[in-house]
Amino acid sequence: MSDLLDDASGRARRYLAALDSRAVAPSPEALAALARFDGPLPERASSPDRVLAELDELGSPATVASAGRRYFGFVTGGSLPVTVAASWLASAWDQNAGLVACSPIGAKLEQVALDWLKDLFHLPRDSGGGFVTSATAANFSALAAARHALLARAGWDVEAQGLFGAPPITVVVGEEVHASVQKALSMVGLGRERVARVPCDAQGRMLREKMPPITERTIVCLQAGNVNTGAFDPVAEICEHVRSRGAWVHVDGAFGLWAAAAPARAHLASGIENADSWATDAHKWLNVPYDSGLVLTRHADSLRAALSVGAAYLAQGEARIPYQYTPDFSRRARGVEVWAALRQLGRAGLEDLIERTCRLAEAFAAGLSRKGFPVLNDVVLNQVLVSFGSPERTREVIARVQSEGTCWCGGTIWQGHTAMRISVSSWATTEADVDRSLAAIVRAAEA
Ligand SMILES: *Cc1c(COP(=O)(O)O)cnc(C)c1O
Repeated sequence: MSDLLDDASGRARRYLAALDSRAVAPSPEALAALARFDGPLPERASSPDRVLAELDELGSPATVASAGRRYFGFVTGGSLPVTVAASWLASAWDQNAGLVACSPIGAKLEQVALDWLKDLFHLPRDSGGGFVTSATAANFSALAAARHALLARAGWDVEAQGLFGAPPITVVVGEEVHASVQKALSMVGLGRERVARVPCDAQGRMLREKMPPITERTIVCLQAGNVNTGAFDPVAEICEHVRSRGAWVHVDGAFGLWAAAAPARAHLASGIENADSWATDAHKWLNVPYDSGLVLTRHADSLRAALSVGAAYLAQGEARIPYQYTPDFSRRARGVEVWAALRQLGRAGLEDLIERTCRLAEAFAAGLSRKGFPVLNDVVLNQVLVSFGSPERTREVIARVQSEGTCWCGGTIWQGHTAMRISVSSWATTEADVDRSLAAIVRAAEA
């Protein structure tokens, strides 16, 4: 084991050191070489170091360099060094973090990290939460809690009886709702199309005055950080309007929730603490390794009622039992990396990470505008949308940027306009990276 881990460490260090001088997207040759993984299941065992060598030699070149400094696709953080190191150690621990009995350290670090997160996001102190795989799983978990709470109030036990014959729940989403919320709605049986869709403004913010009537059996899904523009729904205003009617407000803040932790951006998230539940990712803006999402709710009991199971052999007293707040039972101790990131950054370091990446996004927007390329969104956070003319022309520039390899940006269609997306989410990106990437984008656009 020891030599193998040394070998892995050496390979990982060489991989990371080479990131800056390779193209961000893998080369066509590297992708073609993936065919060498094809083949039947080996009949016999081989040596672990051979397996690691094969993984590195064929696998490393076929990665996307999203751990590097110039990856701006989707909303993709890198991994803070301390979180990679902590993840290695936690892998060696091999803890099942679902139960305190299986991992006292896993349970402890989750509890500590949860308390810190509630502090950073200014959420109610008695909120509860779970460490899940993703914001999609967090949206799912929060909606399961909402479903439980609204139906329990109507005298219906949805966990026992299911939704057939249950009193109906109305779901309200914005026209620009993230696809993962729709998926989560379908998974909890509320239906991705059985929703009222509220029109949005040009930034993708839900228009409060266009909301349908709200009752005590309504779930309103808001968004903190639109995946294209970075815009926030008017959470404070909507919470005030709907919570007095007994509705449940869920906030998808996959990356935007982190704005609450940066004073210069916190106004965007103002009033967020008045919602009932929140979903966010740690693998995006907190820059921890995959897979790491968080569900939080002021109604911890509803989350537990929705997701826990009982069995005699699981009973273990009064402590918070991690599996009772997540869809999984056995799972890795992903709270370790969240704890390590927060422990290392501290409040000031996290503020700096969020604010710095927002400023780098502003620098991208300013640089592109100066060159005459229209920026389509108000750059309030870390997201930039830019057009290079016609849809064909914009798609051509995106393809050229991706194949040139200095940086990587994806595309989207924003309210009918084809655009290139730039998301600055990595701790590692510097001003020099923005300058280098801007130059590459402008070269591609002027070619
Ligand atoms: C990324 C994202 C999600 C989904 O997050 P995953 O971790 O990929 O499941 C949901 N909502 C928004 C706004 C996002 O940006």
